[in-house]
Amino acid sequence: MNPPVYRDTDLVLSAESVTKSFDGFKAINDLNFYLGEGELRTVIGPNGAGKSTFMDLITGRTRPDEGTIVMHQADGHDIDLTRLQEYQVNRLGISRKFQTPSVYGNHTVFDNLLLSLNRSRGVMKSLFYKMTAGDREEIEEVLETIRLADRKDDEAGFLSHGQKQWLEIGMLLAQKPRILLVDEPAAGMSDEETERTGELLLSLEGKQSIVVVEHDMEFIRQIARRVTVLHQGHVLKEGSFESVSKDPKVIEVYLGRQKHDDAA
Ligand code: ADP
Ligand code: MG
Repeated sequence: MNPPVYRDTDLVLSAESVTKSFDGFKAINDLNFYLGEGELRTVIGPNGAGKSTFMDLITGRTRPDEGTIVMHQADGHDIDLTRLQEYQVNRLGISRKFQTPSVYGNHTVFDNLLLSLNRSRGVMKSLFYKMTAGDREEIEEVLETIRLADRKDDEAGFLSHGQKQWLEIGMLLAQKPRILLVDEPAAGMSDEETERTGELLLSLEGKQSIVVVEHDMEFIRQIARRVTVLHQGHVLKEGSFESVSKDPKVIEVYLGRQKHDDAA
């Protein structure tokens, strides 16, 4: 159904023939999905399409009934993610940002990033850890990327909702993931914050592979490269924003539904 569009060597993740049922209902139904190295991919689809479940499957939170989800290592090794625990998948460099931000409100923005940089070092080590000049540089770089350099000494609890989301993305970036999964980052944001979030995600393109799940069409339009439309747990359409948004099937199941929702 969905032939890979990349040479195998360019792929970082391949999911093939993946199915997942909950009480007989197929939340994911024969899904094929291929992600390129450094690619910024958007996945859209109406509520219940299976977007979050797909992320659960990639990260080892949920196991598929059928199918394979493989991460392609830089050295040519393939790793079957469906056999791993969540923490093992994370250790391979797959980080997930959930919808609600979870930052340490009574620590400064800078310290939040430092803590997350240290997480890979283990608790004991990080308790006695002395920050190096290199660490400081890395954190400063992340602060620039997430545009919170001028807030670095403020307690994270004082940030706006949008700024907290950026900080959390920064905390994931500090761990240098190979694949970053972001679930509805623009939810609850002002228009201006949404646009800045889009700019942030675009600035990461090429540095790591990113999958952004969203149902806000305007936001998708801003950051769209290759767009995957999910419907009833299956890929309905994949392509440019233009080709996807013109597709009659997509308009029917997704845009049509959104218009309906807006009117309600
Ligand atoms: P989306 O993120 O696209 O809105 P979800 O992946 O959250 O969709 O849900 C897809 C479908 O699977 C929905 O019908 C949802 O009710 C169902 N579902 C998801 N997780 C579970 C679960 N743990 N148990 C039962 N049903 C679930
Ligand atoms: Mg969801």
